[in-house]
Amino acid sequence: MRVAPRVHFGFGARAQLPTLIGGRRVLAVVDPFLLGSPFLEPLRDARVYSDITPELPVGTLDAAGETARAYAPEVIVAIGGGSALDAAKLIALLVTHDGPLSRYYGENLVPGPVVPVIAMPTTAGTGSEVTPVAVISDPDRELKVGISSPYLVPAVAIVDPELTMGAPATVTAYAGIDALVHAAESFTARRLDLDWSAPLPVFTGRNALTEPLSLRAAAHLGPWLPVAVHDPADRRARQEVAKGSLLAGMAFGSTGTHLCHALQYPIGALTKTPHGLGTGLLLPHVLRAIPDKERVAAFGEALGTDDTIGRIVEINRAIGVPASLSEIGVRRSQLPRIADLALGSTRLLAIAPVTPTRDLLLEILSDAF
Ligand SMILES: [Zn+2]
Repeated sequence: MRVAPRVHFGFGARAQLPTLIGGRRVLAVVDPFLLGSPFLEPLRDARVYSDITPELPVGTLDAAGETARAYAPEVIVAIGGGSALDAAKLIALLVTHDGPLSRYYGENLVPGPVVPVIAMPTTAGTGSEVTPVAVISDPDRELKVGISSPYLVPAVAIVDPELTMGAPATVTAYAGIDALVHAAESFTARRLDLDWSAPLPVFTGRNALTEPLSLRAAAHLGPWLPVAVHDPADRRARQEVAKGSLLAGMAFGSTGTHLCHALQYPIGALTKTPHGLGTGLLLPHVLRAIPDKERVAAFGEALGTDDTIGRIVEINRAIGVPASLSEIGVRRSQLPRIADLALGSTRLLAIAPVTPTRDLLLEILSDAF
């Protein structure tokens, strides 16, 4: 089990920030929409980096890392959505270790600890504040690329639902459903036989420590995500969704995710649709393909239903996630190419709960089409 060493959750938790910084030299990595916001008040003496775009092009980050290194921050404070948090994790990597980032693509290639990151998410979904992964885009690669390492887990996660109160409905919906996918995929991930004499993989499959987190995440997200989307000012709903997202992040940060994510990367690249829209759309179809029906039913129990897949279809409909791949512009003739690209995500497929053959992926894709 890997989690951030410190996790603070609750309305007002952001007030811990000055204490946690404790007089150290700070680089703040923040989403541009936050500039001028009172949330940045504790960072008035910090150097601020805010060139954050959803795609996170690697060239921009390599340059930001170089500038940051010259400034030599003692701590990096990240405030924003998943992209801002991922950017901060990678800038922290480049402050401590030589670039470019491309040398760290993949798993376990970061050579040692990085400058500590304090992560404060303004969206509820990615779980990046507690996970060992950051996802970026590289113009030389067709799909987004991940850098995963236990050294990228932030030192502190501060999850204050107040920061999510302003998120627009579509952001709340797509980030929130992605959190539910993280809960479902961590709960259904394969159990791996680990070789204790070798370095461990970053993502190790489900275990007794992650399972309760996945279920508890589902219990918070299931009833409350539709409320948070339809009534953005509902504080209880924001709190429940933020908590579900955090717990799901703590679970999948150890277990990893599997088929929805492996299939979303090519679909997202092809259709330019948000990550959570794709993973959410795929979830009912992936769950249908899992042979262990009892496990799928146990996940439904946490959601408060005896029809797991039906309930997820309902949640998708309630929050505006499209029901089929054809609706988001995928053509049937593109399904084989999507399957082939997904087969390249070998680390995700390694923890899938069913042998991920090309035929199986095509079956899931046809079902979703
Ligand atoms: Zn995801």
